Amino acid sequence: MYAHIAFPLPINQTFTYSLPEEFHSKARLGVRVLAPFGEKRELEGVIVKLTDTPETPAHVEIKPILDCLDDEPFFSSELLQLTKWISGYYLSSHGEALKCAIPAGVNVISRRKVELLISEGQNEILTALQKKAPRQTQILKALQKYGAISVAQLKKRVGERSFYTALAQLESKGLIRISSELKKGIKPKTALAVRLAKSVAEIQEALESISPRATKQSQILKILISEYRVGNSPMIASELTKRAGTNLNTIRALGKKGLVTCESIEVIRDPLGSEKFDSSRPLTPTPEQAYALKELITAIEQNSPQVFLLHGVTGSGKTEVYMQVMVEVLKRGKRAIVLVPEIALTPQTVARFASRFLSRITVLHSQLSPGERYDQWRRVKSGEVDIVVGPRSAIFAPVENLGLIVIDEEHETTYKQDEPPPRYHAREVAIKRAELANCVVILGSATPSLESYYKATRGEYRLLNLKTRVDDIAMPPVEVIDMRVELKQKNNRSIFSERLRDAVEERLRLGQQVILFLNRRGFSTYVFCRECGHVERCEQCAISLTYHFDTKLMVCHHCNRKYPPPKECPDCFSPYIRYLGLGTQKVEMEIQKAFPAAKVARMDTDTTTRKGAHKSILEAFKDGEFDILVGTQMIAKGLDFPNVTLVGVINADIALNLPDFRSGERAFNLITQVAGRSGRSILGGDVIVQTYNPDHYSIQAAQEHDYRRFYQEEVALRKALLYPPFSHAASILLRGEDESLVIQTANLLNEQMETLKESNFPEIQIRGPAPAPLAKVRNRYRWHFLLRCADVKQLQELIKQSLKTAPPSVNRGNVDVLANIDPMSVL
Ligand code: ADP
Ligand code: ZN
Ligand code: ZN
Repeated sequence: MYAHIAFPLPINQTFTYSLPEEFHSKARLGVRVLAPFGEKRELEGVIVKLTDTPETPAHVEIKPILDCLDDEPFFSSELLQLTKWISGYYLSSHGEALKCAIPAGVNVISRRKVELLISEGQNEILTALQKKAPRQTQILKALQKYGAISVAQLKKRVGERSFYTALAQLESKGLIRISSELKKGIKPKTALAVRLAKSVAEIQEALESISPRATKQSQILKILISEYRVGNSPMIASELTKRAGTNLNTIRALGKKGLVTCESIEVIRDPLGSEKFDSSRPLTPTPEQAYALKELITAIEQNSPQVFLLHGVTGSGKTEVYMQVMVEVLKRGKRAIVLVPEIALTPQTVARFASRFLSRITVLHSQLSPGERYDQWRRVKSGEVDIVVGPRSAIFAPVENLGLIVIDEEHETTYKQDEPPPRYHAREVAIKRAELANCVVILGSATPSLESYYKATRGEYRLLNLKTRVDDIAMPPVEVIDMRVELKQKNNRSIFSERLRDAVEERLRLGQQVILFLNRRGFSTYVFCRECGHVERCEQCAISLTYHFDTKLMVCHHCNRKYPPPKECPDCFSPYIRYLGLGTQKVEMEIQKAFPAAKVARMDTDTTTRKGAHKSILEAFKDGEFDILVGTQMIAKGLDFPNVTLVGVINADIALNLPDFRSGERAFNLITQVAGRSGRSILGGDVIVQTYNPDHYSIQAAQEHDYRRFYQEEVALRKALLYPPFSHAASILLRGEDESLVIQTANLLNEQMETLKESNFPEIQIRGPAPAPLAKVRNRYRWHFLLRCADVKQLQELIKQSLKTAPPSVNRGNVDVLANIDPMSVL
């Protein structure tokens, strides 16, 4: 037998190994193995194919694998196929895609332990082996000497020669045990547990003879009797003593009397366990919800892969729809995965799921401790839980019998992984997984991505609408403040319009709360007119131009075309044409200066890197410890603060003028999501948006809460310029410390791509090379290409072919080349 192994290396091929006899029973598809690689290395890889012949050219030397690391396949065939598809679509190796499907904390089986299973008295086994198998004997002797040690250490002690074969033979003879021990700290957690030592009748009898003063002892026994479960299963001691209002001494006393026994049992670390959830009951669906539910349940019953786009305004009850569909899925013995943009930002959503489904649900994400992650992952794999909630990586949860995948806020950019490869989009992966598992996908959003809505209009996805808010509270009015007027008519140079300043002061007086949005991404300086709001854009790409102070030129960061800046506004001839974006730090200072008495909390990447920081800031804000919460789009998501009656967007133009073809979509989403944060209670609420572009359709449509209007304007623009959804985009980023080498490499790559395009791919549009909008990050210069083509296969093929013969600087590792299919951001 031969095993074809995928390694987590950026090499798009599998490697063939022979399978020694002793591994034949364990070696199955999806099992992880250890194999020799190159001269000295040993690598962990995954069996992705098994064959009877090697299927390699005759001259290729075939080595045996060293060991099988799993007793059961780590990857189901569904996940093997899914990761294979990912590697093909997103241009990574299969091994990289597989690695990405192993949660950190679960993949650290670097310390496998060996222990001896024979005792002193069984030395005759050793003697018998001595002649026949000197190598095995040597290993047994080493184990007798050193006790249980790690496989790696044992190998060091006894030498490499046929080490793994001998080990496997010893294991198959039952003379040793090899167990996987996860890296330090990641072990099953145990706790002291108590159970009755006698039958219930006997205990009841004993109760009568217990001294009336030992009430605590009686209480413990009574609890154990009342909680008597199947098989007299034990109760955790700490829970028991807490309920009886006593301590371990009471249990010890009962133990001495022979009434209870204590033991150590494994407990599951439950990341949701520390929180108290009241179980919530399903609500009676509104007519719109009922219709959506009917359609979804019909689809679930058909067991066929179908994608629904649930377009519902904020507060329309999308979450309730997800939960009620999930009940139906569970009823049919199936399971579900729910993706949320980011766990830390959606504590309220997670809590709502948890309170409905209690122990049948779990979360899987990177902020769990390795131990928690390991436990939850095992619970999912063993089928103990039915619903997994998590960020994009949860799409790889080892859920069997999948009936439903929900992607909440499907438009969010966090669903796209940029680093490390594969650069996958969880939505596309989910749709592929649904195809493999024959299950239903619900994409939910108040502001669907252009791609998804476009597919819905073409019938590829089925559109379900929730047009009204459940509580019938009107959407909060959005006031758009024309900042051009502030300057021209009021000579107000502050970042606050008069209106926003007054509104904030009023809320502070009333003891209500305010959220103010900044846009952190204000790194690029666009060129705009302070009098009429005109913004300079590239004639060819329509994205905004970036002003460069050194060359005094405006640059298009897609096609690298350069333009001299105008001396006066080409629209209104005003000389007030300006180059500066707003620095966020300055904004923060101005807020504190303008409202010195207010308590201001800040939430951005600087203040939230610590684990749990988001949650504590949000909780403190909810508890009223702060008056104003200042933050970036991080706080735009599903939060619900009843006391917030004003939300202000300081400068909507920063989103609008990002040098990215999705800037209009970003601005619309931002304002719409922000508006959803206000007026969540009977106090009502206002939204104030400051802009120099009050006439822009993104801003006007957001003001009117009119997604359709936004979509129609935006889609027309995308169509005219052949941007997605009318094409697939791909970006190629080159980065390196030596800028001239980066440029040189980019030019070489460009030549290769142009040649290929001419001969084989005439439909592909290549823009660039151009400096990326973020032109230098961590000392590395960045240049990029943006490619477009209606047919994604052509894009993938062109990139694969041109990267195969990479320019020399790439080979030497001086310049990284990163290909990204369907990038969500081209910064
Ligand atoms: P969305 O996810 O679309 O923003 P939610 O599911 O959060 O909307 O619903 C908004 C509010 O309405 C929540 O407080 C929710 O409990 C409530 N709600 C949802 N559906 C119903 C219903 N059918 N009857 C009563 N209240 C509902
Ligand atoms: Zn102007
Ligand atoms: Zn351009």
